[in-house]
Amino acid sequence: ATPTALMVGTGRGAQLGILIKGPEVLESTRRVDTVVLDKTGTVTTGRMTLQEVYVAQDAEDAKGSGGSAGFDEKDVLRLAGALEHASEHPIARAVAAGAEERTGALPPVEGFENVPGRGVRGRVGGREVMVGRLAPAPLPAALARAEEAAAAAGRTAVVVTVDGTAAGVLTVADSVKETSAEAVRRLRALGLTPVLLTGDDERVARAVADAVGIDEVIAEVLPEDKVAVVRRLQGEGRRVAMVGDGVNDAAALAAADLGLAMGTGTDAAIEASDLTLVRGDLRVAADAIRLSRRTLSTIK
Ligand code: ADP
Ligand code: MG
Repeated sequence: ATPTALMVGTGRGAQLGILIKGPEVLESTRRVDTVVLDKTGTVTTGRMTLQEVYVAQDAEDAKGSGGSAGFDEKDVLRLAGALEHASEHPIARAVAAGAEERTGALPPVEGFENVPGRGVRGRVGGREVMVGRLAPAPLPAALARAEEAAAAAGRTAVVVTVDGTAAGVLTVADSVKETSAEAVRRLRALGLTPVLLTGDDERVARAVADAVGIDEVIAEVLPEDKVAVVRRLQGEGRRVAMVGDGVNDAAALAAADLGLAMGTGTDAAIEASDLTLVRGDLRVAADAIRLSRRTLSTIK
């Protein structure tokens, strides 16, 4: 009887848009009590757009630095856009597209380097440029205020550093998927505790968590540390399902008791997971868990 019941489960799964790696996967879903949700691309669309551009040189900061900083908004945007053009990160795509739209064709980059979970660096027109969370602290007051305001509004801010000096702040906005709040409700209805996990700023993560009804937030986690978060939760005796889409989620998806990948995400995430939500609809994560629990109860 067992194989038939499993086939029913997987066939129904395919109808719902769930791909299941193998029948043994169903067993793992049974005792899961915690569901860790990646933020960008999982709870949010991950399609970010460039919003504001701030420069360091307002009256006050120019006085403080001897008035020598000297980058206007267009300079900052072009340098950042040129650099981000070489990256695939959702923030990078937003910055490069916004810069190209607002300032025209972007100059070439030399010595490009991606710093996972932190940002990018390289040379543009003979200048050393960095974008992300790589600027020397403390930020000039005007930029610190810009960053604070962005975070309060739930937007991600990245700092543009030119030749070692923080020259500007760019903000990008992502949006919460329409289906995410309903998905969180359904996961809770199954008795699961949702946890939001992200490399992004704590304040931005809180704003997203509040919007979808998640209480537990683990933010500012480096890509290589996401797996450690899953292991720590498991060490506390929790049985963890993880839903993610990025290359940086792959190790955590593999370590989780049940890994679920967004079908709209990267191949690395899909390969590391037990289940794939074909349409990238988070509500289906709850359907998948409910379906496999029901399938198991038919078997037993
Ligand atoms: P998430 O966990 O939300 O998918 P990441 O781990 O990819 O986020 O990135 C964490 C943070 O590192 C971002 O919020 C951003 O501040 C910074 N960062 C990473 N890559 C870039 C990039 N290409 N450009 C600018 N900032 C970046
Ligand atoms: Mg992601």
